[in-house]
Amino acid sequence: MDRISYDSNSKTITVDLTGINLESNEGAKLLQEVVSAEDRYDLSVGDTVETLGGIVGVNPVKNLDRNPDSRYNYRNPPGKIPTDLPKFGIDAQVAYNPNYYNGFGISQRSLTTAQIPLEYTVYFHEPAEAYAKVQNTLQYAQAHARAHDRERRLREQRPLLRLHNFGSGGLADDPAKPANNTIIRR
Ligand SMILES: [Zn+2]
Repeated sequence: MDRISYDSNSKTITVDLTGINLESNEGAKLLQEVVSAEDRYDLSVGDTVETLGGIVGVNPVKNLDRNPDSRYNYRNPPGKIPTDLPKFGIDAQVAYNPNYYNGFGISQRSLTTAQIPLEYTVYFHEPAEAYAKVQNTLQYAQAHARAHDRERRLREQRPLLRLHNFGSGGLADDPAKPANNTIIRR
């Protein structure tokens, strides 16, 4: 924790990566990548997030980037609408609502023998996916899968994480490990 500081005036988190071997620390590596990128990544923590089309709710995650997204091809006209895009000046907007599961009577439970994901693995997954979408111009499904693979590496580096489901949700892990599905119960 000595490495992390937060300036509430500039709303900036500063992380000292000095001396960390990035090849054995996937989290530090991801941070290094997003701060070194030419694109601007923004992390929002809270119930709402600002988009190009105004403020929207976050239940529990938003991951918005400036690129075209084939998930919206079904629309007429096809493509994103302003609330699907990051606010002006930002290339990738990640938002997480930490109050979601404990507020409004919504709880998260695991469908597997593993425990629910640690919150920080969600904070790992979403920027990793955003980076894959913007830096590597991958569509959502491929970007999600790449971020899931990176989380696998993180779990190899931090064995305690294997007691938990993936922060990426959704995708099944290898058969030797519990699947990672979660369900929301209202
Ligand atoms: Zn994802």
